[in-house]
Amino acid sequence: MKYYSTNKKAPLASLKKAVMKGLAADKGLYMPDTIDLLNDFVVGDMKDMDLREVANVAAQALFGDDVDRETLARIIDDTLDFDIPVVPVHDNIYALELFHGPTLAFKDVGARFMARLLNYFIEAEGVKSVNVLVATSGDTGSAVANGFLGVDGIRVIVLYPKGKVSAIQECQFATLGQNVTALEVDGTFDDCQALVKAAFTDDELAVRLKLTSANSINVARFLPQSFYYFYAYAQLDKIGRADEFVISVPSGNFGNLCAGLVAYWMGLPIRRFIAANNRNDVFLDYLKTGKYSPRKSIATIANAMDVGDPSNYARIIDLFGIYPHPYSAIKKRIRGYAYSDDKIADTMRNLYDSHGYIADPHGACAYQALLDDKLSDNETGLFLETAHPAKFKSTVDSILNIDVAVPDKLRAFMNRPKLSIPTESDYESFRRLLIQILN
Ligand SMILES: *Cc1c(COP(=O)(O)O)cnc(C)c1O
Repeated sequence: MKYYSTNKKAPLASLKKAVMKGLAADKGLYMPDTIDLLNDFVVGDMKDMDLREVANVAAQALFGDDVDRETLARIIDDTLDFDIPVVPVHDNIYALELFHGPTLAFKDVGARFMARLLNYFIEAEGVKSVNVLVATSGDTGSAVANGFLGVDGIRVIVLYPKGKVSAIQECQFATLGQNVTALEVDGTFDDCQALVKAAFTDDELAVRLKLTSANSINVARFLPQSFYYFYAYAQLDKIGRADEFVISVPSGNFGNLCAGLVAYWMGLPIRRFIAANNRNDVFLDYLKTGKYSPRKSIATIANAMDVGDPSNYARIIDLFGIYPHPYSAIKKRIRGYAYSDDKIADTMRNLYDSHGYIADPHGACAYQALLDDKLSDNETGLFLETAHPAKFKSTVDSILNIDVAVPDKLRAFMNRPKLSIPTESDYESFRRLLIQILN
């Protein structure tokens, strides 16, 4: 399968090239040129399969032309060695708990898959080594650093804003060592992202250091997220609840929702998607007006969704590009809701007090959006719970007045010495440091 750029001014790329480069030469995002339709019988049979079997069927359709069957199966086995359960919450509402991986957030799925796929390209195809740059406001850094930790041939550089990530998050990427280097930038998350962008557009540096991105712009990180949409459907199908299926996705850069849309185009019968946002609601504005106006992000308690210019917007537009009126087609398939911090906190209390479910602030947005969407009796709502509540412990504890238990695998990161390198936020200092570290 070939990958085209959403800016349509770069040549088609192989999977290997799309993964190794991250962003196309015209700064567009890579997208699969064709999306294979799975037939109804294949999707229907998934109810008798486990998570890895379902993922293998979807992976064959997406990556089967480029990676042999055994390798794909091995990559999936290594990636999905944890469960992704569908949990009944109340009435016709279910949660898809995506937080049982090593860093307790859904980004583990994409990050682990991408690390193993890159490693395959390095080992099987004689690629020398690759350097992965990633800017993080918290969750991406931990998933990527742990996904790539100890993987041969790959160095990871995580940039994070000094003093602006939680202590637990910092422990998850700044204490690892080995092939992971954390840079503590004296600036904001936007500064970190600007540095990474500047490095990718610095052609001399990007080529010399073989830089790629592990943000959801990379197809190897975003596409594997479609696997669990199939699995969620299969679980509900098994109990006869999948016929009128509505999925609510807490969204920031919209990589997760985009992967759901890919699953839909592959033939997964999803009635509609809901994009749930915090106060960073540019996409909701787009749904209301048809105009996309990116702006600066605002800090909220659901901070992994504090994104003012979602990078996967271009992919969503392209996915609906076959329609004569893409905007009305998008509005038919995707609805949107946005919530203030106070509303998110109210929702978390309601979920806990009335239904005994502890949600993190991101999952709570998606749950509230299902309520506000007023499901009909024959519809089943599923919200994606993207992080374990202990990842946002101080927020969750103070809102619910409880002491959320910290799982052992999260505790294991704490009490280890911080190994990050401090750096200024100007590009020249960063560039010098990068060359020094990677040469
Ligand atoms: C990254 C993240 C999101 C947003 O996902 P996107 O794919 O960027 O839309 C939501 N919740 C949590 C907990 C996250 O870490």
